[in-house]
Amino acid sequence: MSDRKPIIAIDGPAGAGKSTIAKTLARQLGYLFINTGAMYRAVAWKALQLGVSLEDADQVGKLAEDSLIELTGTVDAMRLLIDGQDITEDIATPAISQAASVVSAISAVRRALVARQQQMGKAGGVVMEGRDIGTQVFPDAEIKIYLDASSQARAERRHTDDLAKGFNTGSLLTTQSEIEERDTRDKSRADSPLVQAEGAVYIDSSAMTINEVVEKILSLVS
Ligand code: C5P
Repeated sequence: MSDRKPIIAIDGPAGAGKSTIAKTLARQLGYLFINTGAMYRAVAWKALQLGVSLEDADQVGKLAEDSLIELTGTVDAMRLLIDGQDITEDIATPAISQAASVVSAISAVRRALVARQQQMGKAGGVVMEGRDIGTQVFPDAEIKIYLDASSQARAERRHTDDLAKGFNTGSLLTTQSEIEERDTRDKSRADSPLVQAEGAVYIDSSAMTINEVVEKILSLVS
């Protein structure tokens, strides 16, 4: 019997609770937590800093290939460094959420980041969350989850989070329409659209507590 620990792949739309659930699981299981969205956010941040158009596939793709992107720290104090610079707080803004969704449609960006994510998780004992983990990054992951929730529930959670972070986000309806815009983009892009992976367990978290979702996933980890 191998004592290799599993890979838990969690995909789903924005605001479904992926990060909270993935962190709780990683903490309880003593696994590595990898938030792949932070890597797409970092590429978007750098493109904006350099004044590169987010739609310029060649330049943004090259920028993703040439950047050193590191996720360091512990589950509860994760830091994102690009070329050695800590930009954890800078990439948490609603503007970067939208920009990340635009650059993530570029195939060269996806190729560069997916290869690194495969490298980071291949040893197992990892909870990785994103949009394409169960379909592209680790299609053979032992446990695959598609975590969903109604767009209203997701907007409410995101709005509360944004207010707590001190962002001036406008009304709940603005947050809901931004989330819906991002989902549509993520689900309709040609390369690796957000879909439920084959073999993934579908969980609708709209009316579930964090604990209930965590317990359900833990019951799949034997
Ligand atoms: O998860 P998070 O909201 O931080 O992701 C930001 C954006 O990055 C998503 O809206 C999506 O466009 C992109 N993304 C992706 N593939 C992943 C993770 C994130 O395309 N595995």
